[in-house]
Amino acid sequence: MSHRNARDWNRLLAGRPLVRVWSEEPMIATQRIPERLEGDTVEGAEARGKHHLLRFASGRVLHSHLMMSGVWRLVPDGRTVSPHGLFLGLSVQGLTAALYRCPNVRLLEPGEPLPIAVQRLGKDLLAVATDPGADTAAALRRCDPGRQVGDALMDQRVVSGIGNVYKSESLFLAGIDPWRAVGSLTEQEAARVGELAAQLLERGVRDRGRISTYDRPGRPPGLRPSGEKWVYGRRGLPCRRCGTPVRSRGQGDANRTTYWCPACQR
Ligand SMILES: [Zn+2]
Repeated sequence: MSHRNARDWNRLLAGRPLVRVWSEEPMIATQRIPERLEGDTVEGAEARGKHHLLRFASGRVLHSHLMMSGVWRLVPDGRTVSPHGLFLGLSVQGLTAALYRCPNVRLLEPGEPLPIAVQRLGKDLLAVATDPGADTAAALRRCDPGRQVGDALMDQRVVSGIGNVYKSESLFLAGIDPWRAVGSLTEQEAARVGELAAQLLERGVRDRGRISTYDRPGRPPGLRPSGEKWVYGRRGLPCRRCGTPVRSRGQGDANRTTYWCPACQR
């Protein structure tokens, strides 16, 4: 898969919940990939040489190394997904991503380090970064200064690990408007958003992939993760801090929805 194909994948799959994951291949069955991905949402796809990464909202990453004969195919609904050589099928509404003849597949849990060969993508905020704030600030400094910060944070070549939910949530907590140009951020702002994103990602790991970023006041500790967020998914609802209605709009090449509070984020 080329980078151009990865862009198509992002356009077609990103933001879509999985409706079915299946495999009849024993080595996939032993990893319980279908069970582990149940209810997850595709975040994005990346290709690095023969390495292919599918990221999910939970923070899980499906890594496949295509070797000589492996191939991913996108099959629209209504066409037959050929069973010959099929290792893994992942369906979203309207489309199936089918992996053929590829024994090198692993599903990484949230926070589990990427294979060394792919760690060089951009500092992985969980696995590689020792100082997520400084690493994020340095990575953003290397970006096109005109790029919107909400778009840059989602680019896994800049820093890896931040998906669509964590993008909106960490920018809210940092008080940064997602539409600002990267070049307008101060060093402190850039570092702060990286630190906050890393903290949220770590919480997601502790919660085994369930994304909660907000706790209601007075909520007793030790309960199961609530799944509540500050702004993500709350379009039109009052900001939990200031009461201003939360806004949302598509951003970046893949047009991923960004949520933000126009009063709290500047
Ligand atoms: Zn607000």
